[in-house]
Amino acid sequence: MENIEAIEKLKALIIENNLPQTDMSIFGIKCPYCGKSDRIRQLEPPEDLTEIIESEVLKLYGDLWRQLNPSAVRLGTCKFCLNPVELVLSEGRAKALDHT
Ligand SMILES: [Zn+2]
Repeated sequence: MENIEAIEKLKALIIENNLPQTDMSIFGIKCPYCGKSDRIRQLEPPEDLTEIIESEVLKLYGDLWRQLNPSAVRLGTCKFCLNPVELVLSEGRAKALDHT
């Protein structure tokens, strides 16, 4: 799967399953897509969702997570424009996934 396709699938999955389901707000990180700095949420790693979403969806989420995030850094999403992003927490910023 191309990354661009994986990003679209992850975005759809986030919207359909209303992820993240726990409120993992992080403030002061600007969305690389829409520029809002109060809407970024951390996404739960797949292993934290085993009891929460159905296993078929979880498998896809895990596959997309590993493909888009091979170094196992954090992924997040913007609750305003709904795009998934890569979080670079040590630098306090978010990166667009399709620019890597
Ligand atoms: Zn955004």
